[in-house]
Parts: sequence; C-alpha cells; structure tokens
Amino acid sequence: MLRRTKIVATLGPSTDTPESLAAIVEAGVDATRLNFSHGSAQEHIDRANSVREIARQQGRFVALLADLQGPKLRVSRFIEHKVTLVAGQEFVLDAAMDKDAGTAECVGIDYEQLIDDVSVGDVLVLDDGRIEMEVTSVGERSITSRVLIGGILSDNKGLNKRGGGLSAEALTDKDREDIITAARLGADYVAVSFVRTAEDLHKARRLLRDAGSGAGLVAKIERAELAHDNAALDAVIEAADVVMVARGDLAVEIGDAELVGVQKHIIERARVLDRSVITATQMMESMITEPMPTRAEVSDVANAVMDYTDAVMLSAETAVGDYPVEAVRAMVRICLGAEKHPSMHQSQHRIHESMEHIDDAIALSAMYAANHLSGVTAIICMTESGATPLLMSRIKSSLPIFAFSRHHSTQHRVVLFRGVHTVPFDSLKIPNDQTNALAVSELVSRGMVQEGDLVVMTKGDYVNAQGGTNTMKVVRVGAEIQ
Ligand code: PGA
Ligand code: MN
Repeated sequence: MLRRTKIVATLGPSTDTPESLAAIVEAGVDATRLNFSHGSAQEHIDRANSVREIARQQGRFVALLADLQGPKLRVSRFIEHKVTLVAGQEFVLDAAMDKDAGTAECVGIDYEQLIDDVSVGDVLVLDDGRIEMEVTSVGERSITSRVLIGGILSDNKGLNKRGGGLSAEALTDKDREDIITAARLGADYVAVSFVRTAEDLHKARRLLRDAGSGAGLVAKIERAELAHDNAALDAVIEAADVVMVARGDLAVEIGDAELVGVQKHIIERARVLDRSVITATQMMESMITEPMPTRAEVSDVANAVMDYTDAVMLSAETAVGDYPVEAVRAMVRICLGAEKHPSMHQSQHRIHESMEHIDDAIALSAMYAANHLSGVTAIICMTESGATPLLMSRIKSSLPIFAFSRHHSTQHRVVLFRGVHTVPFDSLKIPNDQTNALAVSELVSRGMVQEGDLVVMTKGDYVNAQGGTNTMKVVRVGAEIQ
C-alpha cells in the first residue's frame, strides 16, 4: 500500500553525511526542512544541493522547505554560559546591560520592544516552557520578575509571553535575507514563523516573487492570537498554501492543556479551506536518544494522521538525533498503520456545499466516482499548477492520486498533499488523443494498476492551460483507451 501521509524531516548535523541523508530519503522522507534558525546560508545551499542530488539518484521527488527563523525572542548570553534559577527568586531582563554579562540575577535581551509589550502579572516562558517567571515590575529599559518554575537557563534561549500579544514583526531583517537565499537554492516551500496576519504572508510572497521564486508559503501557526480568533486564523490559512501546526511555540503561548483541541481545529480549517497542513514538533522527541518511540509518541503521530493531517514533521529527531533513520522508519510504520483504519477511507464529500469553479466540481466528482465505483484502483490527474490534486486530496480516500505534470515546481509542490504522488509527464510532447493511454500505461509499468482495474482520470480540453480541468473519464486498464 502506498503511504498517504507525508513526512517532513529537518536537516542538521545528523543528516549531513551523504550516507545518512540518502538513508532518510530512502526510508521515506517526502520533504526536507532547512531550519534557518541555525546554520549559515552556505550550509543551507549545500544541504539543498545534496537533497536534489540524492532524490535524483533514487528517482524520488523530495521537496525543499526553507523555514525562516522569524522574531523568536531570546535572552542574551551569560558570563558562565548558563545559570540556575530557583523558584521564588527575582530575575531581571535588562535591555541596557552588556549582552555577554548575564548572571543568575539578570540577563540582556535583544528586543527592547518587549518592555512595552508586557505588564505586571504577565507570565514569561523561557526555553520552550522549561522556565516560567511572573512580571513584578516594568522599568524604563528592564523587566523585573519572580521565578515561578526554576531550572537551568543557558545562552540565547527562547522567550515567549503566555497568552501571546508580543508585537514583533513576523519578518525580520534576517528573514528578508534568508528569503533571498531560499530563492537561490530553489526552495519549493518557504515557512513564515510567528505569522500574525494575512498581510505577513502577502509581504513574504512579494519578497519571494521579487527574488524570483514561486515557492509555496507555509504559515506557521504558533501565536496565541490566532489560536483564539477563528476569523484571523481562517484569513491566515487562506493567504497561505500550507499551514503548520507549530506546536513547540504554540504550546508555550497557549499552554499545553488546550493544544490538542487547537491542533484538531487548525487541521480541520485547513482542509475545509483547501489548504495542506503539517503537524509539527516533538512528535518523536524521545527518539533523539532512543531507537524506539514511546507509546505516547506512537499515539500522537497516529492521532494526527487520523485527524487527517497531510504531513507529520520531525525536528531535532532527524536534525541532531542519534537515530534519524529509525525515526523516519517509525513514522512511516505508524502512518501506514493509522491509515488502515476504516474511518480514514470515508468522506462527507462536502455534500451540503455548492461550488464556484468547474475544476472544483470535476475534482470532487472524480473523488466521488473513485470512492464509490467498485474496481477503481487509482486516480490520474493531469495538472499544470497542482490545484486539482490538492482539491482531490481534501476528500478522504484510500486510493492513490497520481499527479501527472511536466513542471518541476508542480512535481515538488504536490508532495505535501496527502495521498498525492508525483509522476513526471510531458503532455506537450504527446498527441492529445494518446495522452490517456500513455498515462495509464505509465502506471501499469510502475505496477500501480493492473489489467482490468478501473482508473479515474481528469484533465482539461486544453491540456497545458492552468485551471482548465473540465473533464473526467473512467477507463479500464487493458481496454482501448482514448
Ligand atoms: P520552530 O517551529 O521549530 O522553528 O520553533 C516549530 C514550532 O514552534 O513548533
Ligand atoms: Mn516555532
């Protein structure tokens, strides 16, 4: 059975040898994430080139996702590089002090704006939730707080405000530079961190276009403001091509108690609004140091698959973990297992909705036919932009959707859509009356369909025109196909 749920793996030191990169791709990685919070532009370019080369060698389509750092607030550095904070003690964040002179009493911060954004009683959360402190007074250039949960705090650790409300711009100067690097290395997707509004994404898209890139945009949902405002969330989802449930920062901002409900809501809204969705962070956290996931991690990945996420993501597990290949294999196994559940193959078919566009009607009709007509084993979708396979993959099904496209960008774009598989196919070089027969024989030669199977096909009258899908056909493998 072909796996439907896609796997995104973050690259890092653990995947930097050609052997280990080849091994995770072979194990089933569909998209690789270049994390611009770490590493130099040259490192990302080298990694991108290695991914393209290894994918080519293996005959695979692996997308490159450049993930911008965004306005992640951080404390500065300590004289001793780390300090221990004790619950009940006072601690000062001081924008005026030397950035390398932190102690157990005070540390610098880069983002002076923070002082305007917080008030007495706010809870600041540091190091992904490991340390909490409550603001007791706000000065001209410093914030004094009382430590609620203590622990070790080291150089450059992240800082969030519980409940959200930090005004930092989604796109920093560094992000603007990194967008140019992302364009240069040919990223298929670019992820924007700490998105607040649709406008953040419009801006990122303009910058990408100016840099000559047509990459898709991933909106990382990690601010409390979006989790608590359905209209704002929908607007952001619609401005993006893909959304990411960025559970690391999201959970820090909203607290872990609400996280799972919010995850389910984001996945559902993305599907309703015809966007692809990635579920990310700490999915297999224990596999950073262990070769097997815990039962809770197995359950987390399986539940995201059963929520109908398009993709699941590995972060430190592959980037810096001891068992990157095992982590990918475990995800593959768990995705396949969860996809077997009967509830994964049925759909509500949007039965109560009317449609605006012809290609919507064809895409959904094709899925209805494929799911309900016995004998259908595959769907072939001739696509220019990838829009039709995206629409198709919003419908639950157990049947593979093969996106036939001649465009490098589309071939890599569709890899993040659940149940969609790339087949490079140059319809320009083929007479119109032979396209269907050749497409089916391509699937026969790949062992995906057999004589006697039914295949549902969609295409446009003008085969090479975008948005022109207006035809659906059901053909039998082995019969004469027009
Ligand atoms: P990050 O984003 O790993 O870049 O912080 C994902 C998350 O916050 O979950
Ligand atoms: Mn984040």
